[in-house]
Amino acid sequence: MGLFRLLFWIAIIAGAFWLWRRFSRPTPTRPEAQNTSAQPAPMVRCQHCGVHVPRDHALAMDEQWYCSQAHLEQGPRNNER
Ligand SMILES: [Zn+2]
Repeated sequence: MGLFRLLFWIAIIAGAFWLWRRFSRPTPTRPEAQNTSAQPAPMVRCQHCGVHVPRDHALAMDEQWYCSQAHLEQGPRNNER
């Protein structure tokens, strides 16, 4: 019975050690997740040239965004090749 008790305690210690490693390991915090709290400026796509610009710097016309006044005046360009 001595061997059985030894194996029993080895199993208990191994399990405790595994749990300790599991919980003591620092949870990986992604820097991207932290940055989401400070919401970045939303990007919009120019309907004429397709470039992505911050919405603060974009111009809106008929619920569509343009990167510049010139592209706003030229209007959306068809994506047909
Ligand atoms: Zn543009």
